[in-house]
Amino acid sequence: MRRQASDAFFTTFRQYENTLAATLDGVVKSHLLTKELRGYDSCLEAALKGDNISTATYRMLIDTINANLARTMHKYVDLRRKVMGIEGPLTFPNLYNPMLEDVEVAYTYEQGRDLILKGLAPMGKEYVGLLAKGTDPASGWIDVFPNQAKRTGAYSSGIVARDIHPFVLHNFDNTLDAVFTTAHEFGHALHSYYSSKYQPPVYSDYTTFLAEVASTCNEEVLLSYMLKQEKDPERILMLLNERLEKIRLTIFRQTLFAEFELRYHEYAEGDETLTADYLNGLYKELIQKYYGPNYELGPNDEVEWAFIPHFNYNFYVFTYATGLTSGISLAQQIMAKGEPAATRYIDGMLKGGSSAPPLTLLKNAGVDLETSAPILTMLDLFEKTIADFDALWTKTYAQ
Ligand SMILES: [Zn+2]
Repeated sequence: MRRQASDAFFTTFRQYENTLAATLDGVVKSHLLTKELRGYDSCLEAALKGDNISTATYRMLIDTINANLARTMHKYVDLRRKVMGIEGPLTFPNLYNPMLEDVEVAYTYEQGRDLILKGLAPMGKEYVGLLAKGTDPASGWIDVFPNQAKRTGAYSSGIVARDIHPFVLHNFDNTLDAVFTTAHEFGHALHSYYSSKYQPPVYSDYTTFLAEVASTCNEEVLLSYMLKQEKDPERILMLLNERLEKIRLTIFRQTLFAEFELRYHEYAEGDETLTADYLNGLYKELIQKYYGPNYELGPNDEVEWAFIPHFNYNFYVFTYATGLTSGISLAQQIMAKGEPAATRYIDGMLKGGSSAPPLTLLKNAGVDLETSAPILTMLDLFEKTIADFDALWTKTYAQ
C-alpha cells in the first residue's frame, strides 16, 4: 500500500517535471541576476550576506555531514532494515513509516503541561515560571483545542502584539506529538517574550536563521527528561525513534536539500540551464550518497525535488539543519551544566532579538556554528541513539 501511494504521488509529479524544472530555472536566473548586479561572487554569498553568514559556514555543514554519513545515516538505514525485518536493501516506501507499531499513549493537556514544566526545570525558575503562566489556558496566551472553523497546526505569534504577550495557536489532540508541539511553540513564544521585553521595537524580531533554535532546544530538553523518567522499554524505544526521525528529517534530509540547492546554483552560474534530466540526475546521486550502499533507488526517487516548494526560496532549507543542531547543542549544555548554561543562553540569545548578527547571538549563547563542533556533537548523539535503540530493541524483541 505504501509503495502504491508513493508511486501514484510521484508519478503525478513526474508528468510535470519539465514545467517544474523550467520554473525553478527561472527562480535561479533571478538569483543570478541579483548576484551579477550587486557584484557578489556567487548566488550563495548573495543569499547569506543579509544575515552576515559566511559561505564557509554553509559549506562546513554539508562537508561535515558528508564526512560522517557512514557512521550515522548509513547505520540508521541498517537499523531500519533490521527492526522492520527487511532482508534486501531499504527502499523509499519503507523510509517514512514508523519502525515500531504505534505504542499509543494518550496525554491530557494538563498531563502534557505538567511534563513540560517538570522536564524544562533545568532552564531555571524564571523561564519555568513564564512557561507555567503562558501554558495556563486562563492566561490568554494560548488557544489549546481544535474547534469549529479553526485553522489546523500550531503557531506562535510574538511580534504583532509585542506590548501584550505572545499568542500561541494550538490544536492539542492528546498525542505525544502534541506534547512536543506545546514545548516547541513555547520555545518560540518565550523567545519573542524576551526579545520584545529587552530590545527596542527595531531589534525585537529575531531572524529566520535563529527561529528554530529555541523551539528545538525545548523539545530536546523535554525528550531527555522523558527518557530519564521512562521505565517501559516500548515507550523508551518510541522516544528514541522520535529523536532519530527528527534528526533524519530536519538535519540529514535538509542538508541533502541544501547540497542540491548549492550544486544546481553552481551549475547555473556556469551558464547552464536547469532541465528535468539534470535535476533528476543530481538528486538521484545525492539520495544514493546520503542513504548509502544498503538503500536501493526506486524509479521515482529522483523526482522528489519537484515536490519541495522550498527550492523556490533562496538558500533557506539549511536553516532547519543549523537550527536543530544549535538547539541540540544548547540543550546538552543546559542539561550538563544547569542554570549557568541556561542563563547564558537566555541572556545571550533569547534577550538579543536581532540586535547583533545571528551567528554572534548564537556564539553568545554557547554555540559556535563557524566550527564543526556543534555538528559533531549532534552527530554523536544520533550515533549513540542508534546504538541505544538497537541494544534495547534486541534485548526486548529479538531473544
Ligand atoms: Zn517552529
